[in-house]
Amino acid sequence: MGDAVERAIAAELYARLRIPLTCPDCDDGSGSNIIEDISRGETKCGDCGRILCDGLLDEGQEWRTFANDDQCNADPSRVGAAPNLLLHGSQLETEIKFADTTYRSSQLSRAYQNDTARTVNSKLKHAFYEIDTLCKSQHLSRPVAETAQLIFRRQADAKTFANKTQDVIIAGCLYLACKSNGVTRSLSEIHKVTMVSKKQISLVTKALQKLLDADTSAHNNNAVFTTSGSATPYDLIGRICTKLGLCLRIQCAAERLAELCAEDSPLEGRSPLSAAGAIVYEAARRGSSEKSLKEVAAAAGVGLATLRNVHKLFGAYMEKSGKLDSVEGARQGL
Ligand SMILES: [Zn+2]
Repeated sequence: MGDAVERAIAAELYARLRIPLTCPDCDDGSGSNIIEDISRGETKCGDCGRILCDGLLDEGQEWRTFANDDQCNADPSRVGAAPNLLLHGSQLETEIKFADTTYRSSQLSRAYQNDTARTVNSKLKHAFYEIDTLCKSQHLSRPVAETAQLIFRRQADAKTFANKTQDVIIAGCLYLACKSNGVTRSLSEIHKVTMVSKKQISLVTKALQKLLDADTSAHNNNAVFTTSGSATPYDLIGRICTKLGLCLRIQCAAERLAELCAEDSPLEGRSPLSAAGAIVYEAARRGSSEKSLKEVAAAAGVGLATLRNVHKLFGAYMEKSGKLDSVEGARQGL
């Protein structure tokens, strides 16, 4: 019984949906000339003008585009990019072109040139562009680039880095941003990309870190950046393992090794990249997915001879300290 009623209702609804819209005044059975006027939101009869339906929703875009009257190959878009919160102001300024040389025009031109906010913004924009380019070339993600830009803006506001060139500051920002986002790069890697000496990067990084720490204590110790300390082998192991295509098991074992020998190993004072390389090589060897020293050296970006030396030191130390047994245990537990 209930089913029959439901079916009847459904059939009636379906029939109603299929009723074609006709004009009651001039419909002769052959179908009316119906016009949909989207701009007015109305459906009307094309013959007598009777409005059959109003309040139609326009499903088109809600802004005008000027793409069709692009006559001289100019950019038809009338809007720019969204405002960048890292720049000063709302960036709704006007670009003025000074063609004539009248007195008023030159006055206006001078005022325009003296607009300090514009100058500061253009310097920031230039630096941000550099950071973007560097990050893209290193396949670093958007958050890393934005963190680096944020640190750059912070030091620009502090105005305490006037004696450093922009390249040096950017290198420092990049180093801290990578570390803060958990994709640590060593000093030599940043040096390779930015061509700034490792010593300079190290110095500027320390100064930037001090500035950020001061911010942190000023904001009730809510750390915005967790960047303290320099790159450790532990931070770099994940990336080297990924490059070598090693499984998670090996990576965990390598990280455990790095933790174990963090305090008193001969790797202390060595470049974190070569230390990480030696640890990964050892972990892979013991985890029966051996990689050649050459492969590991290439993945870590260190010299073969350096890696061999560091690994020799590391191996001797591990044998002597007897820490390998606990690593074996950790690996079997995985
Ligand atoms: Zn009609």
